[in-house]
Amino acid sequence: MDVHAVEQVLRDRGCALTPQRRAVLRFLDGNLDHPSAAQIFDAVTALLPRTHRPVSSRATIYNTLALLEQVGAVRVVRGTDGEMRYDPNTTHHHHRCCEVCGRLEDVPAAAVTLLLHGQAAAGEVRFTGRCAGCAAA
Ligand SMILES: [Zn+2]
Repeated sequence: MDVHAVEQVLRDRGCALTPQRRAVLRFLDGNLDHPSAAQIFDAVTALLPRTHRPVSSRATIYNTLALLEQVGAVRVVRGTDGEMRYDPNTTHHHHRCCEVCGRLEDVPAAAVTLLLHGQAAAGEVRFTGRCAGCAAA
């Protein structure tokens, strides 16, 4: 995700860059955790100055996420619990899911291409196992 490019796309569409939208973009930029909408709401609420807090309803944040998905700035990935997660990495890649804690981690597209003897996977490949933290526990 290139925050400046996304801001330009939003401006071109006539979408105001509200403090809430900026806070969502700031939080998601480079975020590798695949946060849920609820996690983004909590994080953004903490980022915003108190004066904006009553304005940042869940609906505002959820609408911003829907808008970012629409313009291709985030990819929506379903977590193992069925919950939607938001991924600012829109390049072709795959995921590894922890069967214990539900953590989602990126798997580079090249790693799967290697497994497929040089053939690129058309869609997303999902690996299930335990993350480093849960494997060690
Ligand atoms: Zn991802």
